[in-house]
Amino acid sequence: MSKKTLIIGAGGVGNVVAFKCAMNNDTFGTITLASRTLSKCDEIAKNIKNKVGITIQTAQVDADDTANVIRLIEQTQADIVINVALPYQDLTIMDACIATKTPYLDTANYEHPDTAKFEYKEQWAKDNAFKEAGIMGLLGSGFDPGATNVFCAYAAKHYFDEIHTIDILDCNAGDHGYPFATNFNPEINLREVSAKGRYWQKDENGEGQWIETEPMEIMQVWDYPEVGPKDSYLLYHEEMESLVKHIKGLKRIRFFMTFGQSYLMHMKCLENVGMLGIKEVEHKGMKIVPIEFLSTLLPDPASLGPRTKGKTNIGIVAEGIKDGKKRKIYIYQVKDHEECYAEVMSQGVSYTTGVPAMIGAKLMLQGIWSGAGVWNMEQLDPDPFMEEMNTQGLPWNIKEMEI
Ligand code: NDP
Repeated sequence: MSKKTLIIGAGGVGNVVAFKCAMNNDTFGTITLASRTLSKCDEIAKNIKNKVGITIQTAQVDADDTANVIRLIEQTQADIVINVALPYQDLTIMDACIATKTPYLDTANYEHPDTAKFEYKEQWAKDNAFKEAGIMGLLGSGFDPGATNVFCAYAAKHYFDEIHTIDILDCNAGDHGYPFATNFNPEINLREVSAKGRYWQKDENGEGQWIETEPMEIMQVWDYPEVGPKDSYLLYHEEMESLVKHIKGLKRIRFFMTFGQSYLMHMKCLENVGMLGIKEVEHKGMKIVPIEFLSTLLPDPASLGPRTKGKTNIGIVAEGIKDGKKRKIYIYQVKDHEECYAEVMSQGVSYTTGVPAMIGAKLMLQGIWSGAGVWNMEQLDPDPFMEEMNTQGLPWNIKEMEI
């Protein structure tokens, strides 16, 4: 019987997910794209019709309201909900999925609008409810988190008996021509990047510890294949929280992201004048949240598509032991921004997030990834996901590195 797919969120990532689901409509069946602003869904639906020849349905939803999402799931009779709205909506959408017994997938972990802190605690706490409802909840099926977790599971399965260290390396060498813009939702992006850094390692007693750094305190230059050497800064990133639980023998994990000097200079300046503030301030009798106002001023990430040139390169370097010998490997994926735009009218950051979301949902609908409860990507068999990446626009490479 033909499936029914509900996508929530019509931003940069939602656009890619909707395109790629339509391009795989033998699996996704009837597709509905819903968001706060109906006109954004209609615009994407029109582009899909023109480019792919498939008609998708659209709907308006306020995903902050569980009852609203329940109604939409019931109306569409969805077999899966792909949540690519904002991290603030994760819990309400998960609750709607539990109430209607509908499988759930997202790409970013829950964040409360008033605290610039993201963690899995509240989503993991829904594990029992998902089990009781007999449904799967797949967390973090974007690129990082997402494909990077799968790369770690793939390395663990095929290349190591034990992995000791992992560095996740995220490079966006795209140029959009603006002095300052973010490649995904500005508010979420700036909250993440301006926060303190953190990495995890085991101490001499074998106890795992989170070590905090000042924002941008640790930098290394990494030579990214097909891109070249780039300054890469240590950040906290959510996939580390689940990987430390699930990767056997791990002793250290870090996350690095590249930033150009112009981006860092603008961000510091905005921070210094208070524009990254997340608490309400009073302005001429009106209450405004500075970072929300800034978000309104900055270019919409979805508008960067036609003007972004260059490549992304995201991967992991894992070091450990195989058959008693030390080993180090690098698994990475390179994507060209202009190629993404030509295919789905989106830049590379939305593309590299949206394609893994579609792949995760496809494996769930096909029953290849299954199991009641809440899952992180590295807990599932990496092989079918890696195969899909190769055929859905995200081919990857593996390099044996010298130790
Ligand atoms: P955008 O801001 O471009 O899009 C978010 C969309 O969600 C918008 O269309 C917006 O509504 C919609 N939305 C927001 N609030 C609500 C609500 N209450 N009800 C219904 N719809 C709502 O963000 P992106 O597309 O760039 O990012 C989407 C998600 O992907 C985010 O969670 C982000 O953190 C995640 N992400 C994950 C990555 C990964 O690799 N794992 C990388 C990049 C992003 P509207 O416009 O209709 O008003």
